[in-house]
Amino acid sequence: MAIRRSATKRQGLPSVVQLRLTPTPDQADALTAAVRVCNQAATVISRLAWQQRVFTVLNLHRLAYHPVRTQVVGLGAQAAIRAIARVAGAYANRRATKKRAHIFRPHGAIPYDARLMSWNRDARAVSLWTPRGRVTLPYTGRLEALKAIDTLPIGEADLICRRGIWLLQVAVTLPKPAVREPVNGFIGVDQGVANLAVTSDGVVLPGLALSGTISFNGHVRALRQRRHGQRRRLQKKGTPAARRVLRRLSGREHRMMTDLNHQISKYVVREAERTGRGIALEDLQGIRGRARAHRLQRRTLHSWAFAQQIAFTRYKAARAGIAFVLVDPAYTSQACPECGYVSRANRPARGRFSCTRCGLAGHADHIAARNIAARGVAGWAVVNQPHATGFPSARRDRESKPSASACGS
Ligand SMILES: [Zn+2]
Repeated sequence: MAIRRSATKRQGLPSVVQLRLTPTPDQADALTAAVRVCNQAATVISRLAWQQRVFTVLNLHRLAYHPVRTQVVGLGAQAAIRAIARVAGAYANRRATKKRAHIFRPHGAIPYDARLMSWNRDARAVSLWTPRGRVTLPYTGRLEALKAIDTLPIGEADLICRRGIWLLQVAVTLPKPAVREPVNGFIGVDQGVANLAVTSDGVVLPGLALSGTISFNGHVRALRQRRHGQRRRLQKKGTPAARRVLRRLSGREHRMMTDLNHQISKYVVREAERTGRGIALEDLQGIRGRARAHRLQRRTLHSWAFAQQIAFTRYKAARAGIAFVLVDPAYTSQACPECGYVSRANRPARGRFSCTRCGLAGHADHIAARNIAARGVAGWAVVNQPHATGFPSARRDRESKPSASACGS
């Protein structure tokens, strides 16, 4: 299995470190000019893109390169190319903003790629493009930031001025730690709507007890229901003011969910690390074509949040060297983890599981998480022992077929 793992591409993990630049007053003026010119260029390109409905880098280059070079004084060829890529990226990331032209704030952070900056790590200095020519700036930072810059591959960087202080936020590539063999099986995580996440240990996240719908989970659900009603009313109204409120609401909700997902994934990864287990989640991709939609996908409202939790957990697990597997989500809520019996009748009531064959009963999400954990074990074995003669016994059962998409390697 070691052969298999080392044969796969060893991608590193992205991370960002912050450096403080110490420009002279003249250099600071040049940086200010760079920020202004680059953001102005991006807005010019963005307007063109939006007017002509052209959003891919290649077509946008054809359309906007010459206009932007003549309109924005001081913009170099490379900076123009970078601005075009930036605009294309902004529209690609946010489909919704195609409804209006994306405006780049005049003092917002601007990106630098390898052609616009060069590093002298021995001298702790970086040379940045500006409309007034290159400026070479000494940098300082926290010890671990400097160590990262000294030793790791450097990617793109964002130049930003915050309260008069010039900062460079630099993407670096962390080496990927080797994935440890999960010695105590897998921790399964069921993602839900009522309870955001329930582990195979019966822990409800982010919350206190399984029975406790009054805890934080209850709060989240109540909030969502209130928001849902509010959103419906506003959508019906359809006035510009109502649309503004809608945008603000979705932003706030977005931030809340992102924060909760960070908390949940952090807990799960720490728990897996502490107990020597891998992590298994349901693979929510690739089930779109099925006759009956998965229980989570019926809630399109928050499907992005489920995808985000998968992404966060996968990233944090990789960073900690913990095995991570996505499993087939079919029937995780109807299968009995004890006897393997699958039936809709195993779900007598909402939130309840009770096996009609062996009598195992419990909280439906907890049971689903146990099934996910079991499929994690099976899935990991399939992916990591390609030469094994027999499949794990679980493979034979239709209801617990593991999906072969382990992401630990
Ligand atoms: Zn059973």
